[in-house]
Amino acid sequence: MEYKQTLLMPKTAFPMRGNLPNKEPERQKNWEENNQYQKSLERTKGRPLFVLHDGPPYANGDIHIGHALNKILKDFIVRYKSMTGYYAPYVPGWDTHGLPIETALTKKKKVKRKEMSVAEFRKLCEEYALGQIDSQRTQFKKLGVRGDWDNPYITLTKDYEASQIKVFGEMARKGYIYKGLKPVYWSPSSESALAEAEIEYQDKRSPSIYVSFEVTDGKGVFDGGEKIIIWTTTPWTLPANLGISLHPDLSYVVAQVNDEKYVVAEALLEDVKEVLGWEDVTVVKTFKGQEADRVEAQHPFYDRKSLVMLGEHVTTDAGTGCVHTAPGHGEDDFYVCRKYGIDAFCPVDEKGVFTSEAPGFEGLFYDDANKVITEKLDENGSLLKLEFITHSYPHDWRTKKPTIFRATSQWFASIKDFRQEILEEIKNVNWYPHWGETRLYNMVRDREDWCISRQRAWGVPIPVFYGEDGTPIITDETISHVSDLFREHGSNIWFEREAEDLLPEGFTSEHSPNGKFTKEVDIMDVWFDSGSSHEGVLMNRPELDRPADIYLEGSDQYRGWFNSSLSTSVAVTGKAPYKNIISHGFVLDGNGRKMSKSLGNVIVPSKVQKQLGSDILRLWVASVDYQADVRISDDILKQTSESYRKIRNTFRFLLANLADFDPAKDRVKDEELEEVDRYMLHRLQQVLKGARDNYEHFEFAPVVNLVHNFCAVDLSSFYLDFAKDILYIEAADHPRRRSIQTGYYEILTTLVQVLAPIIPHTAEEVWEYIPGVDAETVHFTDIPEPRKVAGSEGIVGKWDHFMEVRDDVLKALEEARAEKVIGKSLEAKITLAPLDDETRQVLENVAHLHQYFIVSEAVIADEKGIGKAYDYVEVAVEKHPGETCERCWVVSETVGEDKDHPTLCARCASVVKENYTN
Ligand SMILES: [Zn+2]
Repeated sequence: MEYKQTLLMPKTAFPMRGNLPNKEPERQKNWEENNQYQKSLERTKGRPLFVLHDGPPYANGDIHIGHALNKILKDFIVRYKSMTGYYAPYVPGWDTHGLPIETALTKKKKVKRKEMSVAEFRKLCEEYALGQIDSQRTQFKKLGVRGDWDNPYITLTKDYEASQIKVFGEMARKGYIYKGLKPVYWSPSSESALAEAEIEYQDKRSPSIYVSFEVTDGKGVFDGGEKIIIWTTTPWTLPANLGISLHPDLSYVVAQVNDEKYVVAEALLEDVKEVLGWEDVTVVKTFKGQEADRVEAQHPFYDRKSLVMLGEHVTTDAGTGCVHTAPGHGEDDFYVCRKYGIDAFCPVDEKGVFTSEAPGFEGLFYDDANKVITEKLDENGSLLKLEFITHSYPHDWRTKKPTIFRATSQWFASIKDFRQEILEEIKNVNWYPHWGETRLYNMVRDREDWCISRQRAWGVPIPVFYGEDGTPIITDETISHVSDLFREHGSNIWFEREAEDLLPEGFTSEHSPNGKFTKEVDIMDVWFDSGSSHEGVLMNRPELDRPADIYLEGSDQYRGWFNSSLSTSVAVTGKAPYKNIISHGFVLDGNGRKMSKSLGNVIVPSKVQKQLGSDILRLWVASVDYQADVRISDDILKQTSESYRKIRNTFRFLLANLADFDPAKDRVKDEELEEVDRYMLHRLQQVLKGARDNYEHFEFAPVVNLVHNFCAVDLSSFYLDFAKDILYIEAADHPRRRSIQTGYYEILTTLVQVLAPIIPHTAEEVWEYIPGVDAETVHFTDIPEPRKVAGSEGIVGKWDHFMEVRDDVLKALEEARAEKVIGKSLEAKITLAPLDDETRQVLENVAHLHQYFIVSEAVIADEKGIGKAYDYVEVAVEKHPGETCERCWVVSETVGEDKDHPTLCARCASVVKENYTN
């Protein structure tokens, strides 16, 4: 007889290799054709709502690994919520306005912008943006991200723009919108004001000059003729100088150097002395800054006064403690001058070129003027020193060119009017990580009013009209009319029609006696677009609601979307638009460096998909500590693939041993399970509870670790290993065999459900092979709650201890193998002498002891002193004296007892006789 035929060897068609790059696209196509997103919503209808509101990526270019990290994290949460009792819609979005698209058209697409109208150019921008959305959408879907991809939100749609106008109108109605002249970050290279988020710092070489201003009216503090020294790295701002700021509480000195008397901060005298090469210095007077208030000095090359003012912004970090103040070119300057009733003055135009208001420099580019101005200072003797320094300087993030501060007429949202409300709301939000709260709090606390106007074409127009006398007109009526127009025609109509045709019919204003109007040509800051999504999306889509449960974005969005959304929402509703903020870090290479083409260390999501599969990328996302910066490299992905293989093989092994298991018929009740199976199911509940707890706190790495360790330690090295001697050997219906299969079945279904949000392709594939499951896909099931395994109460402590004793035995077997006492562990007979009563209790009450150690015989000695002592037992290992059974490979003295099956042990002989003999 061929005994091999009588073994119940594992059997499954579930492939060992994932072959993910080929199989995932098919599965995704299925999801789409079967409307899996809609069906998942139908399945969960009526449950509590859970909204993760998508922060819109910018519709330009291919997605990079940071996008993948972001969207996959969101998908984990949405899928998890929909499998744990919630109705969790996910509406992806895109941000579509702004300079990068204008630039892409003029640079990459060679669009001749000057040969067309603004409206025509905007049409091209729209087409381009929609094309980019299509391409990005395809790429996001390939990540396995589930959502309403056919019906996303897009900031250029009519509905969205109409909602945005309403948000603007509501803020205007509350008096939060105003127009003012103010220095803002200005990019001469793109001829536009910039948001703080559009600034990046790069090194720049600049002149560093020390200039003297002669006192003309000492106001009783000075005699006159003293020279106040200022230091600046922007000589080109000197034509706009209107004052010198001193700190009211700082000590200043009048220092006699040869025939001159100079004024500097006392704390900086030594530094100035060294820089200017002074040798004999006598301090002739010391005074507090506040004493010099309103002293007048002479501008170094114009016939006008420069007023000494007091400002808290003055420091002794560098320079002289006397600060050159040009209110048209600096924010601190602007505010200190405002206190003294001095208006912003800016003789530089939008291209960065001097106007006629700067006599002598008209027509010069600001950066070229540095040299000319410095020469002029040198000629008239007010230049004390010229050096060059390299320092960190604000640049336009798109053109990479230096920016300047320039006073221009801008529209502002007044943050100060509702700052306190925002700060209160920040406290009501949960922050992951917790430092996010302080970060946003400080950002809002220190934030100046929000400059929302941009001098560009591609964006939502600022819906303001002007009367004949230049007065801005924003009324409920005009706002509501413009909002309706945008809802019907889109915002392009603003550029297609004359102002009069954009106003409500018969509209009149005291500011326009002749009925003539003009319209604002500036557009809104794109952060206002995306920052209005709580109105444009959460309030506009029937399946969503405000506040959202979660906003989840990269940590750069504390100053971006988290901030702009909070500002507009508090302004309009008094409440934050979100309950939880989760932020993630940036993706770096394996060595912690930024990814860049020049370093050749860029990992592209599409390439990972093609080589390894999206589930590998997703498993990587789940395994990193995403709230900090994370790393990815080919080596890291290789480790992830290893971890994937471990999990996949475990699933495969479980499936293969369930081939003949029909849960409806063969499942064993908890109370009737073998102890070890009850114990393993109890361990499963611990893993399940840990996984759910971590999901609830948006921690995914511990979920993967728990499952991975359970697979590697509890299952592979124990539960799947010793059970082979039962599963393969005993008769199909043997109670011990069915008991183990019952354990395997629950472990398999539960683990697949737990991992379904993370590796949805693989989880669904495994599900298809599990016998007797009802749901058509694992994604339409609920992850079970941890349950009490009946009859596990009394045995958990016993088995926990048994597993410790088992470690001792495994150690002893390992040593015996090294000493060549035995080869395979099945050759061994072991004798155990417990070192304490508890251990004896446990060992004497575990049936089939030898099976759990995978030895052929295990006996318990009455007395100690039989072998080497370990932590809990003495162990003696010897080669078993019996013969090896041909069928089960257990060594037994019973081999040969049965005359019909002389090569089998008694157990095998009986299994074969009862089941395989006709
Ligand atoms: Zn046997």
